[in-house]
Amino acid sequence: MSDEEYDLIIIGGGPGGMTAAIYAGRAELKTLLIEKGSFGGQITDSLDVENFPGSPHLSGQALMDRFKEHVTLSDSVSFLTTRVSGIDVAANHRRIVHTRRRGDFTARAVIVDVGAKPRQLGIPGEAEFSGNGVSYCATCDAEFFKDQHVFVLGAGNQAIENAILLTKYASKVSVAVMHEEGVLDCNEVDRREAMANDKIEFIWNSTLSSINGGDSVTSVTVRNVLTGAEEQVDATGVFSFVGMVPQTDILPDTISKDVHGYIKV
Ligand SMILES: Cc1cc2nc3c(=O)[nH]c(=O)nc-3n(C[C@H](O)[C@H](O)[C@H](O)COP(=O)(O)OP(=O)(O)OC[C@H]3O[C@@H](n4cnc5c(N)ncnc54)[C@H](O)[C@@H]3O)c2cc1C
Repeated sequence: MSDEEYDLIIIGGGPGGMTAAIYAGRAELKTLLIEKGSFGGQITDSLDVENFPGSPHLSGQALMDRFKEHVTLSDSVSFLTTRVSGIDVAANHRRIVHTRRRGDFTARAVIVDVGAKPRQLGIPGEAEFSGNGVSYCATCDAEFFKDQHVFVLGAGNQAIENAILLTKYASKVSVAVMHEEGVLDCNEVDRREAMANDKIEFIWNSTLSSINGGDSVTSVTVRNVLTGAEEQVDATGVFSFVGMVPQTDILPDTISKDVHGYIKV
């Protein structure tokens, strides 16, 4: 176990964790901020964050660089890159945070802000082609699909924002939407922009039942959710945005979670 004792350990270096770290620093709490990947969290996948007050047009990465810079203004907050694998309570009521590679750390209190990761649909071909035609981040992978036909799965903000971004590269973006014609779950600005985009085709009342190919994706099977009718359509990429799964598996059983894994508050 590390000899160092902290007032506070924050798990997760996304916007939530870094905001907590800014406040902890201002309170001069000896704080350890632990992140398993790059600091910044999910928002770093966004090319343009339009709803952050005072900074209407910043990329998610640029915004998070500012957050991190803000955290570093406090000498009492340290950063650590490693994956937290579990949390326990010691006999003296201090919290023990176990990490995968850097040992254990103790603190008087722990803030868990581990966010979420993309939900997988679980259809045939999804896991097989993940990273090779199946993606959960257009900012990361759109350029690999220049002049190609790709599918987007989903109807929320992420799906439609990513579909619009994909039109800068792909020749055609088909969006499979489970709802009836005209119904999307995204914000009105993105809805209007997507509807007016000639490269975007909406396939209403539909989902994908499989992603097909050999070495890489060559087609998808589109299923009409009302009739059950299926059609195979040529495409080389699938970008899936069908919700998120909370990363709360590191929490002890004493913390109650709902059926989806979200912490009950
Ligand atoms: C493409 C995209 C575009 C978006 N655009 C916008 C937008 O324009 N405006 C907006 O308001 N929101 C937007 N969002 C949503 C926004 O990104 C999230 O609401 C926000 O990131 C949530 O912050 P968080 O800190 O709670 O969680 P996260 O951002 O998920 O951060 C959690 C962090 O915890 C880390 N972590 C998880 N488990 C562990 C572990 N065991 N050990 C150590 N670290 C761990 C993760 O690596 C991650 O960095 C967008 C999201 C995406 C994906």
